[in-house]
Amino acid sequence: MCGEKDGFPKLAQIYWAWFEASGERYAVRQRLCPPCYVKWYATPLVDQEINPEACPFCHASVGGDLDPTFATVFIPGRQRLEIALATCANDAAVLRENAKMGAIRLPNRGPVDEGPRPLISATSAWDDLGLHP
Ligand SMILES: [Zn+2]
Ligand SMILES: [Zn+2]
Repeated sequence: MCGEKDGFPKLAQIYWAWFEASGERYAVRQRLCPPCYVKWYATPLVDQEINPEACPFCHASVGGDLDPTFATVFIPGRQRLEIALATCANDAAVLRENAKMGAIRLPNRGPVDEGPRPLISATSAWDDLGLHP
């Protein structure tokens, strides 16, 4: 996402998927170093887990107007996290633009089909962040 790969050989990977207004499924794979993950996603993902009914960015209740963005998060040394982000319409647009940054667009299949699983082993850069187990 940011090109800072040298200092962080083990990057997080997030598989994002959502449905475009046309009904087409759009899926990308994004790699993130720890600072980018924290900057863009760490807090919203935690907030979404705590309160699944509210937009994780602005905390507005989304009620029945749900257009979720699905994320499968692989962080080195952590269990994989699968979560649906119940963003409001504005934040969905921002989130999806961010998700496309430096990402690879995937064919319309689930993340389980996308080649080898990322190597899961602990790295201090990720351990220090206090993320989900
Ligand atoms: Zn970065
Ligand atoms: Zn919002």
